[in-house]
Amino acid sequence: MREKKPKLYIVIPCYNEEEILEQSLDILGEKLRRLAKEDKVAEDSRVVCVDDGSKDRTWDIIAKRSSEDKTFLGLKFSRNYGHQNAILAGMLESRKAADCVVTIDADLQQDVEALDDFLGKYMEGCDVVYGIRNDRDTDKAGKKVTAEGFYKLMKLLGADVIPNSADYRLLSSKALEALADYPESNLFLRGLIPTMGFKSDVVYFDVKDRTGGKSKYTIGKMVALALNGITSMSTRPLELIVFIGLLFCVLALVIFVLSMIDWARGMVVQGWTTTVALLCLIGGMNLLTNGLVGLYVGKAYIEVKHRPRYIIDQAIWDGSVNEDING
Ligand code: UDP
Ligand code: MG
Repeated sequence: MREKKPKLYIVIPCYNEEEILEQSLDILGEKLRRLAKEDKVAEDSRVVCVDDGSKDRTWDIIAKRSSEDKTFLGLKFSRNYGHQNAILAGMLESRKAADCVVTIDADLQQDVEALDDFLGKYMEGCDVVYGIRNDRDTDKAGKKVTAEGFYKLMKLLGADVIPNSADYRLLSSKALEALADYPESNLFLRGLIPTMGFKSDVVYFDVKDRTGGKSKYTIGKMVALALNGITSMSTRPLELIVFIGLLFCVLALVIFVLSMIDWARGMVVQGWTTTVALLCLIGGMNLLTNGLVGLYVGKAYIEVKHRPRYIIDQAIWDGSVNEDING
């Protein structure tokens, strides 16, 4: 159980969100004020906007808002580093000041009213609180099927992911300190955070339609996230490859014996179709499996370089602008 009302930092990743950002900031500011009035969070709680290299007016909106109202803080990436890194930056930069951090999308598709439940669980002593969506009714059919398939596949491949847990979650400063010790560049927070342990619980929330602008998660970004999720959390695909390779070796041996028998009988031309078919099959499998192994090698390559996961170009943090906070 916790006694002291926490200093809450709400982190929102923003990528080309000019259409809805102002409205979202209004809602979040209002929600924070209400929570403070109800004595659920400390007065000096904040909203941290991370501009993930937007090409539109997003940063102007953030800069203007934070100059008018000290509740709002801003970080501007030097370029687009992706949603996961934007969340990470917001969380890591907040961890010294905040008692707990909640991450939520800039479009506020996730219900902000669930914040009360998040804080309730925090007060009960949880260090990690996962937001789980009630249903996927607002998703387009394609997204629904791919998302469900993805979670099934992840489970099959041995990665410990809580299904339908969006990146709407609360972490205590203790959990954030632990997260800061994970140096990996290939970040898949949904898979990573459950491996950290800590006392955790879940909160259910409704998902709304996007009120403005288009989804910033293009198909390409979604595939990249899914692939990253699988390859950064599990090496099961590599084991699968060894198994398939073995199977094909046995098959090849059987076929070799059979064709030797055919050859002894003088039927050399027959079986050409099978040969070609197998050639294609094995060739295809070869390419596929090599490619998969390559993915892992590539990951290792990126990791050993130890490059920064994001670079902050500008920061508006507690009244000061352009403070150099790149760690
Ligand atoms: N986002 C980001 N960087 C990106 C893509 C998206 O920071 O490269 C942010 C985006 O601004 C939003 C959140 O990630 O706050 C989720 O994106 P979106 O709502 O477009 O995804 P969807 O809800 O369609 O899955
Ligand atoms: Mg969205």
